[in-house]
Amino acid sequence: LVSREHRPGRSVVQVGGVPIGPDTVTLIAGPCAVETPDQTLAAARMARAAGATLLRGGAFKPRTSPYAFQGLGEAGLRILADVRAETGMPVVTEVVSAHDVDTVAAYADMLQIGTRNMQNFPLLQAVGAAGRPVLLKRGMSATIEEWLMAAEYIAQRGNLDIVLCERGIRTFEKSTRNTLDISAVPVAQWLSHLPVVVDPSHSGGRRELVLPLSRAAIVAGADGLIVDVHPHPETALCDGPQAIVTEDLPVLADTLTGLAAFM
Ligand code: PEP
Repeated sequence: LVSREHRPGRSVVQVGGVPIGPDTVTLIAGPCAVETPDQTLAAARMARAAGATLLRGGAFKPRTSPYAFQGLGEAGLRILADVRAETGMPVVTEVVSAHDVDTVAAYADMLQIGTRNMQNFPLLQAVGAAGRPVLLKRGMSATIEEWLMAAEYIAQRGNLDIVLCERGIRTFEKSTRNTLDISAVPVAQWLSHLPVVVDPSHSGGRRELVLPLSRAAIVAGADGLIVDVHPHPETALCDGPQAIVTEDLPVLADTLTGLAAFM
């Protein structure tokens, strides 16, 4: 269902009226985790200043350590809904368990499946039936074929509004958090009609890498970017080192308008 054989053209996925697909580079940006109403609103304003049309933010956080901040849960979803009302930005947020799909779908415009859950098949089936577009991150050790098969689980439930997200894979290289597999962008676009976006924040794991990796992604043909921003990354409860700051916003905005227009 997600292959080019099934649909020869390239699909556009609408998220609360914002298109993701060919002919545009859609910026999704916001905090890694929703922490407080003020922090989320400030991050949303930063996102908008960088040219973002969709707001990201995690309320349910899949953390490696059980002692790390796990997210605010439904209280975080309510904050996201309030910030959407204030800014007009549709919300992309992660769901980590099949039990929470209905709750998250009640607040979110797009459901995110994180790298750790790419092959959580009951979760994929549940989001496939939830009536919301899905952002499907690539598993950190998944092949492109496995990633597309995960998308197939969602599509099989009648939901073809899926956006693939390359977010870096595990390699021997330790100087970046993950290795951005830039080839995955054109390869996934050849094999599948689904839009492909890139997460330069979780791939590099460092703020200094976000702009170079964003440029690489746009030039490789990505249909969008998903970027972490934070008003005070030094006190962030999750992934502060990879969040871009106020000074980076005009550069990202120029990159988007300049490079995306050129592509
Ligand atoms: C995220 O985007 O908040 C996240 C946890 O990403 P990933 O699943 O790619 O690690």
